[in-house]
Amino acid sequence: MFRLPVAIVLLCAFMRASAAEHEPLFQNRFFTLSQSNELLCATSEQQFMSTERLADAIQFYERNHPGLRQQAVAVLTDHKNPQRLDDLADYREDCEHSPSGELCVLEKYWGDRDAAWRALALFYDSKTVIKHSEDPNYLLKPFDADHLRIFEKAIRKIPAFLRQRISKAKPVENLDKEIADKPNAIQELIKDAFQEDYKTSIWQDHTHPLTFTPGIGFRSQTVAQVFSGQNLIVFTVKEFDKGKEGAVYRDIDVEYLVDFRLPIVVHEIAHTIDNFHFWNGEDDLYFFYKYHKISNDEQIGKIIADAKLALWPSKWFEAFEYLHEVNDGRYDGNTQEKLAELVAQYILIPERLKQSAPAAYQWLRDEVFRGIEYQGYDSCSTPLTRPLTWWQKYASGKQLGH
Ligand SMILES: [Zn+2]
Repeated sequence: MFRLPVAIVLLCAFMRASAAEHEPLFQNRFFTLSQSNELLCATSEQQFMSTERLADAIQFYERNHPGLRQQAVAVLTDHKNPQRLDDLADYREDCEHSPSGELCVLEKYWGDRDAAWRALALFYDSKTVIKHSEDPNYLLKPFDADHLRIFEKAIRKIPAFLRQRISKAKPVENLDKEIADKPNAIQELIKDAFQEDYKTSIWQDHTHPLTFTPGIGFRSQTVAQVFSGQNLIVFTVKEFDKGKEGAVYRDIDVEYLVDFRLPIVVHEIAHTIDNFHFWNGEDDLYFFYKYHKISNDEQIGKIIADAKLALWPSKWFEAFEYLHEVNDGRYDGNTQEKLAELVAQYILIPERLKQSAPAAYQWLRDEVFRGIEYQGYDSCSTPLTRPLTWWQKYASGKQLGH
């Protein structure tokens, strides 16, 4: 008769018990999908999760899960640059006797309790990582509590199954072998295209959380960007914030009354949906240079090309697109951008998209969104923008040199 040593039996029992008692991570049950217009018709001061609710979410995942908080805070404060590491070491020292332990470190990292709790709750529930930049001199404008709130709202516009899909990562273990027969220059390009921490930030389950970080956009022109094949979104915070309520959009002489940074984040997440739509998450050796995106699929390319995209008063076209890509008052840019816009418009102005591009709307609904449909900005009961007053238009404009 075979007998297990007692210690092992106990250990097994313990593992079973603890596995049964703690909740699995990333359930998307707190930051639920918002199909209605409530998040769209809101300013930055409205419609984000309360601190009490954030505490509920944190407690839900941490219950019977010792060590989880420590691991999570390590992920959420994972940095390489010496200045950040130095600061983190200081925070750890300051927090040594704090009852909240690692949460104290995260609060110091953000300089704000609400921001820290939101970052942790968003991570536990939706597997999103929001971090400071690696900027060694702290010169870039950083994210603050306000940014975490708008990111939360943007994530809530994305269905849970799509959130899960975009957190997948391509396995890179065999990359060197796979590209060994390519010319050196090409090998270098391929390796460069991966974010720097790619190897260390891939999890054992081959996922890479959707990550938001401040940075400087391409030619410092862009507000936000996603690199091909990745799910890392880099924001030029100063530019991004020009979409917030109270800001003025001079080209069309309006002032924003709602937080129009939301469409920007949704547009960027749409790029990650493009990047990860077709991958089953299992095929090995699925590197970006042979990556099958929605936007480079031939059949879908035709739907995208035929779609007529409306222009409407948000900051987002000004942010991403060049004027020569706007024809007949409609956007007609490159396929990747157009696809991101299609997905964004499906979520944000579906009523218009249904009119302007019915075939694309139907394709998105059936193939990308699994039948999920939204209520858009056009259904808001309060105005989204207001015409500039004489004073805003002339007096302050003159002062600013417009
Ligand atoms: Zn874009």
